[in-house]
Amino acid sequence: MKPLAVYLHLPFCERRCGYCDFLSCCNLTQMDAYLARITAEIRAFDFSPYIVQSIYLGGGTPSLLSPDQIKHLFACLPKCDGEITIEVNPNSLSAAKCDAYRTVGINRISIGVQSFDDATLRNLGRLHDVKQAVAAINLASEYFTNVSIDLIKDIPEHPLVTPPADALTLVKHISIYSLTRDDQCVLETDEPVHLPRVFHRYEVSNYARTGYESRHNLTYWTGGEYVGFGAGAHSLIDNHRFHNSDDILHYRRIDDGVRDATTVRQEQIMLGLRLRTGVALSCLTGKENVIATLQSHGLVHVKGDRVIATTKGLKILNQLWLQLV
Ligand code: SF4
Repeated sequence: MKPLAVYLHLPFCERRCGYCDFLSCCNLTQMDAYLARITAEIRAFDFSPYIVQSIYLGGGTPSLLSPDQIKHLFACLPKCDGEITIEVNPNSLSAAKCDAYRTVGINRISIGVQSFDDATLRNLGRLHDVKQAVAAINLASEYFTNVSIDLIKDIPEHPLVTPPADALTLVKHISIYSLTRDDQCVLETDEPVHLPRVFHRYEVSNYARTGYESRHNLTYWTGGEYVGFGAGAHSLIDNHRFHNSDDILHYRRIDDGVRDATTVRQEQIMLGLRLRTGVALSCLTGKENVIATLQSHGLVHVKGDRVIATTKGLKILNQLWLQLV
């Protein structure tokens, strides 16, 4: 039996945010038909060679699903004793939904807070305010120990506001991504992030209390196998990549082929550089002189058999990668 991470894409949203880069859809009348499509896709997959180690419901706004829809969806999912996450938006979370999440085995809530500043939330086109975000963190914490929040940085004229201490005590994990708008690609300004030291940066955009690092995302970042269901979802099985097309109700699987050794190595280096655990030296054979130069510039350090990007190096990951591949 091999470990497997399972992703479900639930693309429905009440309104499309201006900066959104995800596959999302505001036609909520399509939800039932979509759920019929995705449950049929899950049922057709052969899980027998795998132990499912994590399940992740992402979107879109998965918290738009009713408690009954969530239960229906989980009825066709395989058993999972590991991490089961659902992404939620503060304005569509309720006690009844938290209760349903707990009933089906969900044990991790990822809340799309995005900012702790009302003006910034309005600027982003979000449907919630800070008060609702804090209320959602409090509500989720009544049901779940493992609460994560998403924040956005590098928003022009809207500096990142540090989460309020009360809310932060309830949070175990924080993802902080740079803003990218549909109409303009905003270059990373590398806005500094100020969090209590208890949150360690285990990936370039992710911070966690020890033991609360995202198991599901670590599967992606460490080259593990995963299967994605739903429109636009990607999979990596037996070194074979495939993805679903974007057509919400009629998506179909597209074969992206088997990765060759060069691609595998390039991906390992890119993903490894993003992680605090770094890249195995065995991936970097022949790059000893490059590594020494990067070390002398304070961009990487070598610990045991791993090459790890420093804080300075994390700001220029693409350039490090180009030199190391
Ligand atoms: S809620 Fe999330 S997925 Fe939906 S439109 Fe906004 S950013 Fe995109």
